[in-house]
Amino acid sequence: MFHPDPDFDRRAAALLRAAANDLKRDDTAAERDLGLAPGTFAELTCGERPVSWDLLSRAARVWPLSERDLLPLRDDAPRGVRVMRAEESFASSRTLSRGGVDYYEYRDTAMSRIASYRPEWIRMLQPVGDNDPLNPEVRWNRGHLLYQFTYFVGPVNYYHRWGDHVACVPMSTGDSVWGLPFAPHSFTTRSADEPAYILALTYGGELVGDAQRELAVLGADAARKSVLPFTEDAAAPALLRAFVLARALTLEELADRSGLTVAHVTALTDGERQPTEGDLGRLAEALGISIRDLLAPRTTTDGGVAVRHAASARRWHYPADSPAYRFTELAGDPSHPHTSALEVEVLADSVASASWLTTYQHTYLYVLGDQPVRLLWEAGGERHIADLRPGDSAYVAPQVPALFVSEGSEPTEAARILLLRIAGTVRPEVRHALGAMAEDGLQRYINEDRLWYATEGH
Ligand code: FE
Repeated sequence: MFHPDPDFDRRAAALLRAAANDLKRDDTAAERDLGLAPGTFAELTCGERPVSWDLLSRAARVWPLSERDLLPLRDDAPRGVRVMRAEESFASSRTLSRGGVDYYEYRDTAMSRIASYRPEWIRMLQPVGDNDPLNPEVRWNRGHLLYQFTYFVGPVNYYHRWGDHVACVPMSTGDSVWGLPFAPHSFTTRSADEPAYILALTYGGELVGDAQRELAVLGADAARKSVLPFTEDAAAPALLRAFVLARALTLEELADRSGLTVAHVTALTDGERQPTEGDLGRLAEALGISIRDLLAPRTTTDGGVAVRHAASARRWHYPADSPAYRFTELAGDPSHPHTSALEVEVLADSVASASWLTTYQHTYLYVLGDQPVRLLWEAGGERHIADLRPGDSAYVAPQVPALFVSEGSEPTEAARILLLRIAGTVRPEVRHALGAMAEDGLQRYINEDRLWYATEGH
């Protein structure tokens, strides 16, 4: 059970008011619908009376919504950061066997209820004597929903399968890979005595949450028909065809509106021709959309994965003039523009010489190597400090300024951190919509506290 949480109750009260407003129910109408005594709805929506599970069930029965629509998130990082110590990770250790042999030791690292990360520290227990992907000692999984960013420490062999294609990639410390959902994979060690482990940072991103629930209701057929191709050449015509159907246009009408010939728009929708910049401008105008809505995603994945070896990774100092950090770019993919994977060497040894890092993304961090690091962050108008040791991990909420300093580490060796930043559900579409709201809309969007009209009439 959860402890009493006034903020959770306040968010529940705001969701109830927002739902009643959406359904155009004033207090009296809501009380009638929900079987509540007069005056009760105001008490519920101002937080005087807690919203009970029973009330949610009743609302889901009589109103066209689901219980989930009235349920707020649990906030387990109210001060912006949640730290998990190496000892807590160790305490979560469990060994999983595959085919009767111990294969992996798993340990949890920092997770938060407000982000889709499920980051695990995983030690490889199966040694191999070759780099053969068909080695029978390699135990494959069935793949999983979550995207997986993996950071390698030690002599780890990485195996991945995509259709009929199987591969083994020998990895070393600092190498990384980013992989697509449901691709089977496995890991072994090339050494029985050297440390060999990975940070398997899985996350659901846009795939978990509301989209998954909506498609589960719509069913497999609708889900299949909703698929847009992932390859650039096929994606652009598919997007165009989707808008033509959505707008109920004929190709003749689209040609007439865009000033292109019927043969030209036919070739574009068939994918026989890729649109030029000029075509895109005309089509966007004709469809009443933005050019970006017609643009295909880009990917660099090959066989479902994007591998980045440490030796060829890009490195840079930050800030350029008086560096507080040295960043290394780790594996990622253009199809996930809001994911950033970085290794950080902390060069600053004082707050004065350090540099604040702030992002719209959720941030996961893990202390690599054997040097401690001090994390400072600002939340609620206050500055907070956590001294992190090797193996500690943390979650930092979006828009929380954070800073790292080498504190208590050997002067010759910089502390090293792994950062994985991901987007939550507040994507550019949502963020532009926030910018488009009428004045004072934002505050009511996150905490609806009033009826949508004044009962006194103005
Ligand atoms: Fe995995």
